[in-house]
Amino acid sequence: MLFEVRCPGCNALGWCPCPRCIDELADPAPATVSGAASVTLLFAHADTGREFIHALKYRGERAIAGWLGNSLALGHLAARRCSTASGLMGAVAVDAVTWAPTTAAHRRARGFDQAETLARATAKALRVRPLRLLTRVGGRAQSGASRTARLSTPRFGASARADGRTVLLVDDVLTTGATLHAATSALLEAGAAAVHVAACARRGHSGHSPDA
Ligand SMILES: [Zn+2]
Repeated sequence: MLFEVRCPGCNALGWCPCPRCIDELADPAPATVSGAASVTLLFAHADTGREFIHALKYRGERAIAGWLGNSLALGHLAARRCSTASGLMGAVAVDAVTWAPTTAAHRRARGFDQAETLARATAKALRVRPLRLLTRVGGRAQSGASRTARLSTPRFGASARADGRTVLLVDDVLTTGATLHAATSALLEAGAAAVHVAACARRGHSGHSPDA
């Protein structure tokens, strides 16, 4: 099968994504991640933004991963002026780019980990090594937490290679920030000097979408 590039927003041939769909992306609501030195978000997880994420997450499209990685590296949408952009990478030098691994079940079902794909694309754009610093720790019960909360709040362990590094932690979607907070905490406990968070899409607070 020939590899053809199509815009994940409107299916236009030859663009990924096309300028019109980039312009249609809604600005993300602000978010904080406890422990993180900074949080960079590109767009809201709605309409066109949701299509971009689905292209990455369910179809593993390399072209959109590359564009998202470039945008995360820039700290704003590639090929679009963004007045709210802080220019993360102009101000922050990171030693490593890493990701919070998805569950083994998701990885098996999709054949890849979209967070890893994204982190590798971002690292390439930054010319920084992607490092697998985090592992998912099996769901141990948290006293006082509801079953739903236990199942939905992941826990991570971090490699000693995080020690002394300024890490960029990349993910596709930020909802409550619980996953990225858990990953940030693990990196800091392993000795990371600082953890900066960069996620493509910000999902609203209600966050009951089934693909969280
Ligand atoms: Zn388009």
